[in-house]
Amino acid sequence: MTRILVLGGTTEASKLARVLAEAEIDAVFSYAGRTAQPVQQPLPVRVGGFGGTAGLVEYLAEDGISHVVDATHPFAAQMSRNVVEACAQAGVPLCAFERPPWQAGPEDAWLQVANIEAAVAALPDAPARVFLAIGKQNLAAFAAKPQHHYLLRLVDAPEADLPLPDCSVEIARGPFDEAGDLALMQHYGITHVVSKNAGGRGASAKLAAARSLGLPVVMIDRPRVPPRTTYGDLAEVMGWLFHTPAQPSSRA
Ligand code: NAP
Repeated sequence: MTRILVLGGTTEASKLARVLAEAEIDAVFSYAGRTAQPVQQPLPVRVGGFGGTAGLVEYLAEDGISHVVDATHPFAAQMSRNVVEACAQAGVPLCAFERPPWQAGPEDAWLQVANIEAAVAALPDAPARVFLAIGKQNLAAFAAKPQHHYLLRLVDAPEADLPLPDCSVEIARGPFDEAGDLALMQHYGITHVVSKNAGGRGASAKLAAARSLGLPVVMIDRPRVPPRTTYGDLAEVMGWLFHTPAQPSSRA
């Protein structure tokens, strides 16, 4: 019996959910529960962590999952590591649905860095106006450079005090467009952009805007995850599902 677990939180996951629902394939969609109003899905939805690798192994067995598609964000590395390990333990086939990273063009002024700490270090010492387009996690690291004004773009209004002494907050959910991001960056007098290398179209407008304005971008590389079967295209994921025999958890 086929029953697919889709690990969500991305446009790719939502696209896959739509196709699975239209094809009436048995599937469940999983959200971490980070946003107050997640995008509605046409599949049954579960919300919240599984309880690490062990919890996920248990869940795969209890829910009779036969295939897992990891369509989490490329920076959701903990979840991706857990699911590689859990599927290996349970003997359940896994593939990742992941967009390719962005590549700098000749007109881009990117400084590519390995992680958040390196991004903080890459910012100048003199006060700057930084579009910190990295979501709500990892903001605290930038408190090490409190001299900058930070523009944050968040999906939900922050519930607690932000860890940065001098910041502005825009509440918005992508996809964003170049004209809008250009206007936003001009309005705030942005001098530097910090971005995770998420890939995809929904968040690339800030890079095009930075290019137009000749601004430097500190681009944070993706964290490493163990090797796994990975597709960047919905049709390939559907092909994999179609050709991979259902393999319910060996723990079931
Ligand atoms: P993470 O650090 O890799 O995951 C931390 C823990 O959150 C996981 O160990 C797992 O808890 C739980 N979790 C993560 N994704 C889950 C999912 N889809 N369903 C159920 N539990 C999940 O992940 P994160 O960076 O906090 O991202 C959380 C979610 O936000 C992901 O779904 C991701 O796709 C989405 N997102 C992340 C970013 C980003 O920049 N990181 C950007 C956009 C969207 P247990 O160990 O208890 O199972």
